[in-house]
Amino acid sequence: MKRTGICPKCQHNVLWYVENVAANEEAGLMQQHPTFQLAVTGNGSYGRAGSTEAYVCQQCGYIELYLKERLTADGKHVRELRGSRGAPYRG
Ligand SMILES: [Zn+2]
Repeated sequence: MKRTGICPKCQHNVLWYVENVAANEEAGLMQQHPTFQLAVTGNGSYGRAGSTEAYVCQQCGYIELYLKERLTADGKHVRELRGSRGAPYRG
């Protein structure tokens, strides 16, 4: 959807692009327009990372979220997982 501009669910071609996904929480006076952050990083009140952007289908409402920055894998709050390639899925 990000690359094609086409909704993968209903094939509609008119989308909304949301540059900064909002955080739906009260953030106090310091931050007037808090943005949604994907990860808690454990450093006090500013301990969050992972700004996001969204593409939304205007017809069916399907949403795709994308990270706008790379995360740091600290092994606690964010862990890196690596799947094995080549072996067929045997669910
Ligand atoms: Zn759609």
